Amino acid sequence: MNLWKRLMCACRRRSPWLFHMNSGSCNGCDIELVASLSPRYDAEQLGVRLEGSPRHADILCITGPVTKNSVGAIRTVYAQACSPKAVVAIGSCPATTNVFIDSRTLAGPLDKHIPVDVFVPGCPPRPDAIIQGIAQAAAILAERGMDTPQAEISIAAPQAAVHHEVQP
Ligand code: SF4
Repeated sequence: MNLWKRLMCACRRRSPWLFHMNSGSCNGCDIELVASLSPRYDAEQLGVRLEGSPRHADILCITGPVTKNSVGAIRTVYAQACSPKAVVAIGSCPATTNVFIDSRTLAGPLDKHIPVDVFVPGCPPRPDAIIQGIAQAAAILAERGMDTPQAEISIAAPQAAVHHEVQP
């Protein structure tokens, strides 16, 4: 890897930009994600910044058990984020659908639809765990480098991914 690529990987690791998407959560995880960005927990010390568009984001943070209505939006958002990118599933809902498991309105878990890189367990997870998950995703992102081909989903078919889980 040449110097420019090494520099890009280092920058990506030190300033991951996030896009947050709610796929039908109870808002518990969303509140904790916002708390992790607040001065008290200070995810900005890692260079983390919340972005308003997936096109500008490196890491997609997805909360909620994935309702049938949200599947199309999730796949579109994933396709809009530029490669390399990483996906962090925040809370037990996107990992397992959690307490909503028997709901007929759900199409979860999340990894049936897009590749997930890091799962942050908890209902909801604490801000510290969310920050740890984001840091893990940033490290994965840096490893992917500039020209490492990354699995792009076709809007029709989900793909498998290697999962990392934040230890409590
Ligand atoms: S994991 Fe818990 S807090 Fe988070 S969205 Fe699901 S039910 Fe709500």
